[in-house]
Amino acid sequence: MAETANEALLTAAENGSLRGVKAALEAGADIDYVQPGSLIEGRNTALLIASFLGHVDVVKLLLRKGASLTKRDAVASSAPLHGAAREGHTEVVDLLVHHGATLDIRDGHQTTPLMAACMYKRVGTVRRLIDLGARVDLTDYHGFTAKGYCFFGIVGEVGDRDCMKMLKLIQEAMETRLLRCCNPMCGKPGYRSTLKLCAQCKLTRYCSRDCQKQHWTVGHKKSCGHDAYTGETPNLLDCRKLVESTVGLPN
Ligand SMILES: [Zn+2]
Ligand SMILES: [Zn+2]
Repeated sequence: MAETANEALLTAAENGSLRGVKAALEAGADIDYVQPGSLIEGRNTALLIASFLGHVDVVKLLLRKGASLTKRDAVASSAPLHGAAREGHTEVVDLLVHHGATLDIRDGHQTTPLMAACMYKRVGTVRRLIDLGARVDLTDYHGFTAKGYCFFGIVGEVGDRDCMKMLKLIQEAMETRLLRCCNPMCGKPGYRSTLKLCAQCKLTRYCSRDCQKQHWTVGHKKSCGHDAYTGETPNLLDCRKLVESTVGLPN
């Protein structure tokens, strides 16, 4: 029975059916259920699915019910915030962050949500993430920064208008070198020297103890310590194998 409710939860999340999600949860579905062996990108927990697809109301409900912000998919270890950023669902990005999601959470490539938004040229989302305080200076596993991701050209052409707009936003953020208090209710700008780091995860910064406390209660408690991806990068190895088997790699 529970198995059926779990499956129903994922289907409802996929379809953006608020009623379906409610019914599945009432029927006893595990809110963070993961389909065993699921290898489709962004198809993991209900929150991940709804974030990827931009189902705002479903995301709201799942967050209210305490869905995990740090459970990742099995392909690239994307978290819900990566999915929403990549697909340009800025409203979902806001919701996740206001419920305690860490802005610079890393996936299996050490990619941040900002990098993911740059890769898919989601200019509005890039702007919002930077406004919220996403760091523009971080590098991924391959040494790319958000700037580098602007040139990936998965969408549109390399160097097109969107690309230039994103570069400008990043450049401005780099020049001001401002960080922001990670309590999204505050967001006060500050510098490395003035914002205190969360001693546990060393990923979030706050302007005051009150802000740290507030962020802790809205969700950082659940995210703290789960935002750094420390496992190996399995999909990188898979990518390499795939390339080798199709075109062959030079030695
Ligand atoms: Zn603050
Ligand atoms: Zn922390």
